[in-house]
Amino acid sequence: MRQLPSVDRLLSHPEIERLLSRLPRPLVVDAVRRVIEDTREAIKAGGRPEISLDALVERAAREAVRKSQPSLRRAVNATGVILHTGLGRAVLAPEAREAIAAVSSGHSTLEIDVETGRRGSRVRHVEGILCRLTGAEAATVVNNNAAAVLLAVNTLAEGGEVIISRGQLVEIGGQFRIPDIIRQAGCRLVEVGTTNRTRISDYAHAVTDDTALILMVHPSNFRIVGFSETASVSELVEIGKDRGIPVMHDLGSGALVDLSAFGLKDEPLVQESARAGCDIVTFSGDKLLGATQGGIILGRADLIEQCRRNPLARVVRVDKLTLAGLEATLRLFLDPERAMKSIPTLRYITRPLPEVAQQARKLASALRRALGDSYQIEVIDVESQVGGGSLPGQAIASKAVTLRSSRLSAEDLSNHFRRCETPVFGRIESDRFVLDMRTVEPAEIQTITTRAQMLANME
Ligand SMILES: *Cc1c(COP(=O)(O)O)cnc(C)c1O
Repeated sequence: MRQLPSVDRLLSHPEIERLLSRLPRPLVVDAVRRVIEDTREAIKAGGRPEISLDALVERAAREAVRKSQPSLRRAVNATGVILHTGLGRAVLAPEAREAIAAVSSGHSTLEIDVETGRRGSRVRHVEGILCRLTGAEAATVVNNNAAAVLLAVNTLAEGGEVIISRGQLVEIGGQFRIPDIIRQAGCRLVEVGTTNRTRISDYAHAVTDDTALILMVHPSNFRIVGFSETASVSELVEIGKDRGIPVMHDLGSGALVDLSAFGLKDEPLVQESARAGCDIVTFSGDKLLGATQGGIILGRADLIEQCRRNPLARVVRVDKLTLAGLEATLRLFLDPERAMKSIPTLRYITRPLPEVAQQARKLASALRRALGDSYQIEVIDVESQVGGGSLPGQAIASKAVTLRSSRLSAEDLSNHFRRCETPVFGRIESDRFVLDMRTVEPAEIQTITTRAQMLANME
């Protein structure tokens, strides 16, 4: 114990002094204290930790560097889930990133009309293009789609009844359950039909004087197959028009381009719901649209205006960086081919298998060079998922690099690749660490390889 150097001794070591010139002092001091404290505890517990000055300095330096990294940082997604909520969902297009950088590096025209110099709505930056792309009369944007659904249901139906099919009372995940949202919006839920079959007549029979809204929810993450039936959007629109009740469609993913040729069947298009005459359509900004987190509400101009005037709208207001990213992404859809090339989410979904396979071979040979013979490295066939509330069954053929070590478990490997400056996320399958290459960019192969080299150096 007495041989343990003091905090001051470590702090005056040249290597620590060098660290002090570039890292905040409190972080370095904390790291030094922590390392000495941990070593003392280890000795007390009967262990024999390395207590040489050099060893302690090295550990303190590593700890200080680790603590000085931002907590929220860039990561490599090799999980095979394209829209992974835990990993930040949509990766932004270069155009969206540039727009965000421009708007965040100075003041901006967020709520000022440059023509008149007057205050206006921040949403006008995206309203025109949303209407143009979807054929809707009007549009607004809030913080996320959960907020969009809450705001729209509350605006259209507070104090009234909301009719919804039993097959659409879904939970999207992370506390978003349709029955709870309807209750929270101050409405009474009226369930119609059964889990597997809801006919148009079920809706018609449920309409009363208190009916304020007919709600359709796209059951994003599951399907009822077999003996099933649902009313179509146009049938519901017909009833709505007939009885003077607004019809709302919560689409969730909000696809603007048809991706059925790439394995995404049954994903309704925003413009189809809008053109079918839905009074309100809601969807996410950061799912299949591939933009920033946001909730888009579009449809009838008078209803959108009511949503904007609802005090809740201020509570779920969208911020300027979101708007900058959303506007730039939406502009790309004016040329769908450009959108497919520029928007990473769409690029990952449509990325040809041979290209993914080539990336996998490239990583595999880099890993073989870095790791040598004690690792078993293979390229295998896997299936990627779109994620972000889209149907799990609709897999996209992909290629993965698998890693197995004679000495380390798959869990150890996964920990090693995750605990670093740019964490690499894969998955564990049959005791192998699996890196699905569909969402891995060419430049990220180097990041993975560098991390593998550290593994080799530790042996
Ligand atoms: C994902 C989803 C939501 C929630 O959207 P967020 O943008 O995550 O808030 C709501 N409804 C449906 C149908 C969804 O798929």
